[in-house]
Amino acid sequence: MTDTSTTKRHYRVAIMGAGFAGLGLAIQLQRQGHTDFVVAERGDEIGGTWRDNTYPGAGCDVPSQLYSYSFALNPDWTRSFSNQPEIHRYMCEVADRFGVRDRIMLGCAVTSARWNEQTARWDVTTTQGEFTADFAVSAAGPLSSPKLPDIKGINDFQGAIFHSAAWDHEAELAGKRVAVIGTGASAIQIVPAIAPEVGRLDLYQRSAPWVLPRVGHRYTALERFAYRRIPGAQRAVRTAVYWLRESFVLWQAKFAWAAAIVQLAARAKIRWEISDPVLRAKVTPGYRLGCKRMLISNDYYPALARDNVDVITDGIAEIRAHSIVTADGTEREVDAIVLATGFRITDSPTYDMITGRDGRTLSETFDAEPITAYKGSAVANFPNVFVMMGPNSALSYTSAIFTIESQINYIVDALTTIEQRGLRTVEVRAEAQAAYNHDLQRKFDGTVWKEGGCTSWFVDENGHNATLWPDFSFKFHRMLRRFDIEAYDTTTR
Ligand code: NAP
Repeated sequence: MTDTSTTKRHYRVAIMGAGFAGLGLAIQLQRQGHTDFVVAERGDEIGGTWRDNTYPGAGCDVPSQLYSYSFALNPDWTRSFSNQPEIHRYMCEVADRFGVRDRIMLGCAVTSARWNEQTARWDVTTTQGEFTADFAVSAAGPLSSPKLPDIKGINDFQGAIFHSAAWDHEAELAGKRVAVIGTGASAIQIVPAIAPEVGRLDLYQRSAPWVLPRVGHRYTALERFAYRRIPGAQRAVRTAVYWLRESFVLWQAKFAWAAAIVQLAARAKIRWEISDPVLRAKVTPGYRLGCKRMLISNDYYPALARDNVDVITDGIAEIRAHSIVTADGTEREVDAIVLATGFRITDSPTYDMITGRDGRTLSETFDAEPITAYKGSAVANFPNVFVMMGPNSALSYTSAIFTIESQINYIVDALTTIEQRGLRTVEVRAEAQAAYNHDLQRKFDGTVWKEGGCTSWFVDENGHNATLWPDFSFKFHRMLRRFDIEAYDTTTR
């Protein structure tokens, strides 16, 4: 038999995904002299979640000033909360400006990455062939795989049905009866955007979100001039916005009385924007503000108050060919269904593809025990692999790009350290991972994320919070400033 392993292309680093994480890592690897890498991207363009989520009203609820890489501020944002096309355009421009396009294989989905103990390499299989790599980085992110609800009869529906992250732009919604399932960040942008054009909109709400005002504006020519021309102006504004957002941790995690005041403001918003007491009661959450991700909108409640919109709080029992039936037996005819039901965050299919040293995939590893990682970035039994936006790295109150850049620092420093020391493999020690997670889970005690009285995608079905970083983001950044090799088992070349 021919040994094909010698003929396969080999890379020092293989990155899966060219969203904010993969793109940022590619740029920093290149800038810091680690040039032997490839990025495998399943889509036909870069951008990840900001490429895929093209639903009407798609935009960012994190301020624009925080929604760029620190090394590539964008003076051209047109407003203080950017919309999806603008963010996607920014990502494409950055990829061009830093010259990493030719390192990204588009339309190249990774189907398997398996650790080979003999060669101490990753054997990577993609839709465009096979290659090997010394290091693998999962940069697919938590928002890459839509979560489709398991509702009886859903496959029998005869009208248009699609997920918010795979919007069917061919589907004609004007004048039609449309159901939207879900009331998360995506739904509250979709509903106001489509409500004026559809005939009827039935919004199926399982639990109401807390919604705060969206305090933003379109940038004036003067502001944009200042960001472009006055040295330090944009960075100063960004820094101010950053610290304002960090202060959210104080009331989410430390001072419940302060959260109660914000909650009163959110209640006042409901009273102000909705006059019908029945609708008010429906949209008032039964848990503490901050327990689920807080949402911001100025047009969500007014959209719900429209005559052609109905909020339905009875659970969905069944979907039929042309209707949705709720638990109370009511059947409502619909022409189209939008599934704004979120993403497979803790059970990402990406985890099925990565097989570690003991032959188990990341999914199997996570299934067998509570989902944990070391510093949100490495997992015992998975040598030479880093997971970006991995377990307990998400921030509920500020920009994910801050997490991503913290992890980029860590990974680049890891590669530099490994090269300097002539190492072949690094693998986080199980004891280090366990001790880290023991401390981390204790940080949730007393916080609204643990004690706020809600169920949310922050927490898995066993009640373990496998998603959030429960502290200030600058602490996460500080923790990842240096690759702490003492937590890793190593082998030399
Ligand atoms: P999401 O926050 O997970 O919300 C999903 C919604 O669907 C929830 O209301 C959920 O109800 C509901 N749902 C799920 N399964 C259901 C079922 N079987 N039956 C009925 N309802 C069901 O998803 P998302 O709104 O797409 O947001 C996903 C992530 O993207 C979040 O991190 C979000 O913040 C982020 N996002 C960010 C922006 C931004 O501006 N930066 C914009 C959009 C999305 P429960 O609440 O009861 O679980």
